[in-house]
Amino acid sequence: LFITLEGGDGSGKSTQARLLEEWLVEHGRSVLRTREPGGTEVGVEIREIVLHHRGDIAPRAEALLYAADRAHHIATKVRPALERGDVVIQDRYLDSSVAYQGAGRVLGGTEVRDLSLWAAQGLLPDLTILLDLDETVARGRLDAAQKRFDRLEAEAGEFHARVRHAFLELAAAEPERFLVVDATGSVDEIAASVRERVEALLG
Ligand code: C5P
Repeated sequence: LFITLEGGDGSGKSTQARLLEEWLVEHGRSVLRTREPGGTEVGVEIREIVLHHRGDIAPRAEALLYAADRAHHIATKVRPALERGDVVIQDRYLDSSVAYQGAGRVLGGTEVRDLSLWAAQGLLPDLTILLDLDETVARGRLDAAQKRFDRLEAEAGEFHARVRHAFLELAAAEPERFLVVDATGSVDEIAASVRERVEALLG
């Protein structure tokens, strides 16, 4: 079972990924919790470039860096885990590329999706949880956390509005794959709706 979490920065994906992992492990499942970019050693190096390179990166080059991270991660880590029968919980996957590079950087959703599918040899998630959050609320959370912004988080409000809109469009186009959750809910409320959907999938 391949589960991905998507949403803007500050939407709570990593907290929910961790809670879902804990719950599945308590129920006797073996779980791989991972993320993109940066789920492998090569990926950590790519992540450093895409998030902290000092100068600009051409949008197509950026898209290819995410795709390179993905290709290596899926081939060497995610597919082997799925073949072992693990549940894979992944923080960000191809929908992030479609939203950030396709809509945010205006490279075009179809092209970016095709690139991602090529990189991942067609692997699609069984379930994608979209933690939906208004970009101004998200910005408030990030400001409150006072962490250092990476290149993407420092982008203007319209960029993040385009990203959010793209995520919602993706979810509307594939309602059977997506669970859209209002990320202004409490951590426990969100975790409960995630568990309910995953439980139904596990049968
Ligand atoms: O969620 P996480 O903090 O790991 O994401 C790192 C950054 O990479 C975020 O700021 C996100 O906006 C960006 N990103 C992106 N395109 C992707 C994946 C992540 O712009 N395909």
